[in-house]
Amino acid sequence: MYFGAHFSIQGGYHIAAEKANEMGCTTLQIFTRSSRIWKAKSMNPDAASKFKEAIQKSGLKKPVVHLPYLPNFATDDPTIYEKSNQSLKEEIQRCGLLGIQLLVVHVGSHKGKGVATGIKNVVKHLDSVNDVAAENKVYICLETSAGTKNSTGSKFEEIGSIIQKTSDDKMIGVCFDTAHIFAAGYDIRTPESVERTITEFENEIGLKRLKVVHCNDSKFELGSGKDRHEHIGLGNIGEKGFKAFFSNSRIKKLEVPVILETPIDEKGTHETDFKKLKEIVGF
Ligand SMILES: [Zn+2]
Ligand SMILES: [Zn+2]
Repeated sequence: MYFGAHFSIQGGYHIAAEKANEMGCTTLQIFTRSSRIWKAKSMNPDAASKFKEAIQKSGLKKPVVHLPYLPNFATDDPTIYEKSNQSLKEEIQRCGLLGIQLLVVHVGSHKGKGVATGIKNVVKHLDSVNDVAAENKVYICLETSAGTKNSTGSKFEEIGSIIQKTSDDKMIGVCFDTAHIFAAGYDIRTPESVERTITEFENEIGLKRLKVVHCNDSKFELGSGKDRHEHIGLGNIGEKGFKAFFSNSRIKKLEVPVILETPIDEKGTHETDFKKLKEIVGF
């Protein structure tokens, strides 16, 4: 596995890579643009080549892009549908320019229309961008959600069903967020519960789909349905939980990026969480 965190692109994409490298990371995640607005400036090709150079010079593998937060693929609201579809296509192309093959996306909210409708909408989006994804060699990684009201994709069978219903699933992957799955009711606090959770993931989705791990502790308890990240070891998953998760033989075998998205506050930073994780996992 590769271990890293989410880095800011302030100063340029290559600065994110340099910072990740300095911290001792072997991977990283970035936004390619502001995460909270729809519109993006077109990507400067020089900035993209500088990033690719920085990645090549560093020991960083399998970099990840996270799609901005506004797109919602589960709703059938026509305006949101169009904007979300456009954003996804653009982001796939941006990943292509940066030479990044993993794009993490939130599945979204069906806004009260029901999970079945949500799933249908997501499938429509995925089918419509399949060619662009294949051309750019970008895997769209559906992130497991925490199970907040009207969310789609908090249950493994929902993600499994989305993938099954696409007309071509070659470019579809999954991002496993430890805080989200825990909030959605999947326990990982002991070796036995990790084994059960992984077995369910294998049965409903398939471990070969797991392309990215988001490594966050959870501020709220098992099954809370609340998405609040906590520093590694300070939340409800706890050090023992992360030890159990990363010791699991099927998890250990995965050659995937593990990304910290923990808070930056008075209790710690990505750097302190990275050290803590290193201590726990022993990488
Ligand atoms: Zn996310
Ligand atoms: Zn989250």
